[in-house]
Amino acid sequence: MRMVTRLSTTDHNRDIAGLRYVYPVLSRRAGGLSIGINVNTNNACNWRCVYCQVPNLTVGAAPSIDFNVLADELRFFLNDVIKGDFYERFQVDADKRIIKDIAISGNGEPTSAKEFAALITLIGQIAHDAGILPGINVVLITNGSLIQHVNVQQGLKQLHALGGEVWFKLDSATASGRQKINNTRQSVAQSVRNLRLAAELCTTKIQTCLLDYAGNGYSDTEQAAYLAILREVQDLPRLREVMLYTLARPSLQPEAIYLKALAPEAMQHFAEAIRQLGFKVSIH
Ligand code: SF4
Repeated sequence: MRMVTRLSTTDHNRDIAGLRYVYPVLSRRAGGLSIGINVNTNNACNWRCVYCQVPNLTVGAAPSIDFNVLADELRFFLNDVIKGDFYERFQVDADKRIIKDIAISGNGEPTSAKEFAALITLIGQIAHDAGILPGINVVLITNGSLIQHVNVQQGLKQLHALGGEVWFKLDSATASGRQKINNTRQSVAQSVRNLRLAAELCTTKIQTCLLDYAGNGYSDTEQAAYLAILREVQDLPRLREVMLYTLARPSLQPEAIYLKALAPEAMQHFAEAIRQLGFKVSIH
């Protein structure tokens, strides 16, 4: 799920490395510290993307969240960063000593937690108490497959109230592509409905991983289907941006041997086609 690199941890920062739900990330893109929240402590996701970097990924949902532990960890971690010597211990460059965001992104699909809405509320409260909200971004990184559920929608409303945003995974707009890349049978139509729901409730960005799978590149059929979806959602004012990325690190799935990063020219070419539809596009 993650697009960012986990901060390397060594023995002298065992306190941080040992947390169950909270992990520090130095974000390439954000230029600062991202605070990751992982509620999929069982490495379970309802999808199985061929490029997934979750170790021992299993099919399933997040387990029940222990809110006492999560609250303690988040308060402890924020205190360590804001008042403690976290940056020194991790030898973070001076210009990166800033909290950029809280990213709800873990080893699986975060919206599969049945307490998802309460999770967003708690994160918001603690971030306010610590004095970092407003001022930082709160990002939900999701495959978007569960947004039809009322509990998830409540969470997105709260995320919006925090000024946060949804990064919604859309890798393929064909049934066969979604089966092949994401191993999901959820229809394209349901995914588009969920995308609309997300963007009606909260600022939403589409996050798309483009791959060269088995030397086939990114086919014209896939490109045309994807652009057709974007035309369908062009009217949503809170959906204005697409983030394209490709394989940066090896997948931990059995298909890894068939996967290659898509060529930079192909990424640029596709980005331009998306821009023509009026969306902002970034490549990572
Ligand atoms: S949505 Fe895909 S990439 Fe994200 S955790 Fe699930 S299987 Fe991995």
